[in-house]
Order: sequence, then C-alpha cells, then structure tokens
Amino acid sequence: MDQRLKQLLSHMDSEDARLLRTLIEGFNGGKTEEKSLAELQERLEQTRARIKVIEEKARRKMADAKANPFCHYCRVKASDVEYMFQSDTNVNICSNCVVHGYRQLRMLRRES
Ligand SMILES: [Zn+2]
Repeated sequence: MDQRLKQLLSHMDSEDARLLRTLIEGFNGGKTEEKSLAELQERLEQTRARIKVIEEKARRKMADAKANPFCHYCRVKASDVEYMFQSDTNVNICSNCVVHGYRQLRMLRRES
C-alpha cells in the first residue's frame, strides 16, 4: 500500500478508515491491492463523474414520469386509461389495475 495512504489510514477514525478500505476494495474488485493515493483520487474523480451522469439520468426520468404519468403496476400511460390514481408517495395505479385487484380480492375472500 502507498506510504501516504498507510499514514492517512493510521490517523483516521476507525469508521473513516473502514469506509476508505471498503472504497479501495471496491475499486480493486474485492482485493486490497497496492494502489497509490493518486490512483485512488483519480478513481474517485471518475466515480464522482459517473454518479453525476447517473443522477442526471434519474432526474430526467423523474421529470418525464411527472410530465407523462404511467401506472407503476402495468406501465400503461395515463392518457390510455379512464383514471390514474396517485399516492402521496408519487406511485400511480390505473383504474384497470384497481378493477383487476378488486376482482382478485373478491375471489380470494370467497376461497377463504
Ligand atoms: Zn395499471
């Protein structure tokens, strides 16, 4: 292990050191390999850039879901069904799925 990294780890709180070791192992596919601090910083920058891309993609998906609501159970678009119900946690269910669920519930109750 890089001398500066070794020194850094020895001066960290045990929780921080554990987190950094986990990150190093993650970068190396499960092994605590010989890596320099510079290499780790570079990998960290690459990871940050990747997280930004993932975050932006998720943000676009959220905006799209808001502009074009769909049923989270059957994926049908709001414009293709009679009603679309939205929960407080932004989960949608269409009237088709509500009817389907209601019929299933009635059948289950008759069986028991
Ligand atoms: Zn549905």
